[in-house]
Amino acid sequence: MKEEEKNLYLYYLKKMGNFSCKPLSQRIAAKDLFEKFDVFFFDAFGTLYNRGGFVYPGAKAFIQKLRETGKEIRLITNAAHDEQELSEDLLKMGFLIYPHEIYSSGNFLKELVQKYSIQSAYFLGRESGKILLERSGVLIEENPQKPVIIICSTEFDSLRLRHAEEILKQSGSLLIVLNPDACAPEIDGSRSDVSGLQAYRLMNETHCAVECNGKPFPEVFERALKSVPQKSRVVMVGDTLGTDIVGASKVGISSCLVMGRNMREESFKDDCQVLGFTPDYIISGFE
Ligand SMILES: [Mg+2]
Repeated sequence: MKEEEKNLYLYYLKKMGNFSCKPLSQRIAAKDLFEKFDVFFFDAFGTLYNRGGFVYPGAKAFIQKLRETGKEIRLITNAAHDEQELSEDLLKMGFLIYPHEIYSSGNFLKELVQKYSIQSAYFLGRESGKILLERSGVLIEENPQKPVIIICSTEFDSLRLRHAEEILKQSGSLLIVLNPDACAPEIDGSRSDVSGLQAYRLMNETHCAVECNGKPFPEVFERALKSVPQKSRVVMVGDTLGTDIVGASKVGISSCLVMGRNMREESFKDDCQVLGFTPDYIISGFE
């Protein structure tokens, strides 16, 4: 992980009251997870698929096998999407995951809107994210009544970024982060910044208040856990140490890191050391 990324995840850990969890990680084949668990929580981007409908080898067959053997599946995603839309996109890629099995970070926006009595906000995100604001009753405005910004993407130009900084410099400003991830893997093996990192920069520059939805914070996991039979053996499978694995540890479920996407083999030991976390299991993919 790069320095800024580590600092962001340490900031999340501090927000959650600092804790650590370092079991001895076991390297296994994905198929060996079948007999160990009844319920599979999956991260979405970087774990099952990537940009442009790219599906990681073996991922479809793995989900299919889980269905055939009666295992429970949940998608725990920081992609701030409408569940119905995401379910349809997944189906186009060949994944059958129902809307009620999807727990998205965007689900929590409504509660924050009520907590802070937000009527309008400046939005830094993609078109697909706008539906979440609409659903929560938030108007998108260039100059919102209260200095509130909602961010879920990094795809905006420097003018929009500068305007966001101006808004956040006002007193009583609030930055709501719908995707707290720092970086995401690209298909070619490189990694790019995502909205968590951009939000962290804005926070450090403007000293605004910040609210984060989604992994690694426990609410999204807790909501999903309420939907599965009690005493189930649950595992979170994801590509990101600072969100998927830390978040799973926080709520006391097992974790499995998909190596080589958002986590490089060569920095794994150091990154675990810095954050104070290791996954229970490591797989190199679904084949
Ligand atoms: Mg991911």
